Amino acid sequence: MPRVTLPADMTERLAKLAPPSQAVIDGDLVEAASGATFHNVSPRDGQVLNLVTACQADDVERAVAGARAAFEDGRWRDQGPRQKKAVLFRLAELMERDADELALLESLDVGKPISDARNVDIPLAINTCRWYAEALDKVYGEVGTSPADRLSYAVHEPLGVIGAIVPWNFPLHMAMWKVAPALAMGNSVVLKPAEQSPLTALKLGALALEAGLPPGVLNVIPGLGGVAGEALALSMDVDMIAFTGSGPVGRRLMEYSARSNLKRVSLELGGKSPQIVFADCPDLEAAAQAAAWGVFYNQGEVCTAASRLLVEAPIKDAFLARVIEVAKGMKVGDPLDPSTQFGAMVSERQMNTALDYIATADSQGARRVLGGQRVRQEAGGFYVEPTIFDQVRPDQTLAREEVFGPVLGVMTFSSEDEAMRLANDTVYGLAAGLWTADVSKALRGARRLKAGLVWVNGWDACDITMPFGGFKQSGFGRDRSLHALHKYADLKSVSVTLR
Ligand code: NAD
Repeated sequence: MPRVTLPADMTERLAKLAPPSQAVIDGDLVEAASGATFHNVSPRDGQVLNLVTACQADDVERAVAGARAAFEDGRWRDQGPRQKKAVLFRLAELMERDADELALLESLDVGKPISDARNVDIPLAINTCRWYAEALDKVYGEVGTSPADRLSYAVHEPLGVIGAIVPWNFPLHMAMWKVAPALAMGNSVVLKPAEQSPLTALKLGALALEAGLPPGVLNVIPGLGGVAGEALALSMDVDMIAFTGSGPVGRRLMEYSARSNLKRVSLELGGKSPQIVFADCPDLEAAAQAAAWGVFYNQGEVCTAASRLLVEAPIKDAFLARVIEVAKGMKVGDPLDPSTQFGAMVSERQMNTALDYIATADSQGARRVLGGQRVRQEAGGFYVEPTIFDQVRPDQTLAREEVFGPVLGVMTFSSEDEAMRLANDTVYGLAAGLWTADVSKALRGARRLKAGLVWVNGWDACDITMPFGGFKQSGFGRDRSLHALHKYADLKSVSVTLR
């Protein structure tokens, strides 16, 4: 993708910006019935950006009822594939038209560098919308082998009302991973953005109406997880919750399902992903870049963050020295400065969590070789510098728990078996990577690593065409690819007896 050059001075754009605040329910932009709002704080400077509608249980009920009515009367589900495609393509066009604004909203809301928001998050969200628009008529059923007097076939039917609950690290992109395939399959959706990052989801809801998506088909309900999210997940009229977020909330969602209508649940949860560098790595410079950016991209707030670096003993010192150099060269700064590569963490709470993990690693005897401090305090925001610990032991907290911040733990290994054992020694199984010039070692490793995504001689080198999701406690269900379309459908067998 060609990179967009951003203007250096954001002042004028900021002055013109009117961040959205209202929920999108049944085709209308509305406040909560109670009038409740919450403070939406920008981690860039710690200031309140705007007051956003805080949906309560009754608002959620209204949104679910609107989504149900839209589904049952077929205003979207029953449209032909060409009509559905036209609406989703139009939505992608409108997102492209407003890409600068969406990027600015995203960067302000979560503290990510504006260059990343404009060149990565927003284009990928748009691409996701287009990809599912193109894919929606490539879903085929099956014809069974039947006796001559019978015709049996199986069809994929939309589930009904999908509750999508998404996190704050890639707000619009993660939302589109769920909304696009769910809509493409003919469902109605109630989207609950994270309270830290409601803005682009609200804008998406308004753009979808402008694109011609019928009212009620996509509802957006900003609000607190324990209020709006819980009400959505406990609803008797929601057919599925598609979730990306933390393990503890994922567990609750399964309980809510059990306590309500046994709705389906798909969970994309956290990770503690290992990146393994063998001494025969074919490109140590590329591996060093991947080791540093694999964990520090997006301030480390990435579920697939390569937060455990496993290096073969003979090259460890020289390799780590290069990783430290790459990390030192990252430009930490104001998220709205187009040259910034590393911005603010999403909230004061997330910053303190990262600082606590750093203190724990110090106290448990890991060797801090880079960073470890809060920085840019004068800006009023929540910034933690890239931090690296060497000599991390497998039993230490840093090797076991997800930080979801810019903290890398380095370990050393001496054999292929030891590398695999260390890599798989985690409750998580989202991503893993290995660097080697030996094709047999690479293929053996790809088979032995217990993770939903495995990268060989690269990190995060995949796209919308490939399924995304985890093994073990990283969850179940897949985003991206045609598998995601099937996730939002049920399979119906029909048998017709010929008389
Ligand atoms: P979180 O689980 O606290 O919040 C995620 C969403 O769940 C938010 O919208 C929140 O409002 C909602 N929520 C919170 N409590 C709820 C409840 N009781 N009922 C219903 N909804 C509720 O997670 P987070 O802090 O936003 O995100 C960080 C976590 O997400 C990390 O653990 C990270 O690894 C994970 N994550 C995973 C992926 C992936 O694809 N596997 C991607 C991004 C983030």
